[in-house]
Amino acid sequence: MIQIPFKQFISAGHNNADSGAVAHGNKEADVTKLIRDSIARNSRSSEIILDKDWENNRQYQSRIKPGNGSVVFDIHLNAAAKNTTSGIEAFINKKDFANSNSLSWKMANRFLKEYSTILGIPNRGVKGENSSQHSRIGILNLGAGISVLLEVDFITSTTAVGNIISKKDQLGKVGAKILQDFDDMIK
Ligand SMILES: [Zn+2]
Repeated sequence: MIQIPFKQFISAGHNNADSGAVAHGNKEADVTKLIRDSIARNSRSSEIILDKDWENNRQYQSRIKPGNGSVVFDIHLNAAAKNTTSGIEAFINKKDFANSNSLSWKMANRFLKEYSTILGIPNRGVKGENSSQHSRIGILNLGAGISVLLEVDFITSTTAVGNIISKKDQLGKVGAKILQDFDDMIK
């Protein structure tokens, strides 16, 4: 494994083997890949590493070794019982969550603000990894200077999925800019 100190690691959260949540025929992985690919297309950075669709999360996480100067960004969609539930939320690791001045907290907030505006959905805020369904989220604890997991909206809402698809270019442009701004801060 090679230490790659200054990269942006952007992942679609799920993969071909694990589609994530499925609702109304929509697969979480298909939507998160769209967002990841749009961010990558819109980025001017030559230092981007993406997860590969054939890799599972364990394979991806053991392939990469982000350092202090790296940004890790993992994309998901939430799931809810009701198909009307909507909103965006972000998770950061326990250590970053304990410090509201941490760059992870700040990057999470910027994504929440800008994406909730683009999508016209509620901002559900920044949360610590222990308030997720897992007590610890592996991808947030790989040693990157900034690590954020974003739950963009709800896969269980067909409106949300259509909205993301129609605004994917804007999400990509804005996402690439945010990642670059924060990457520059920790170089
Ligand atoms: Zn997910």
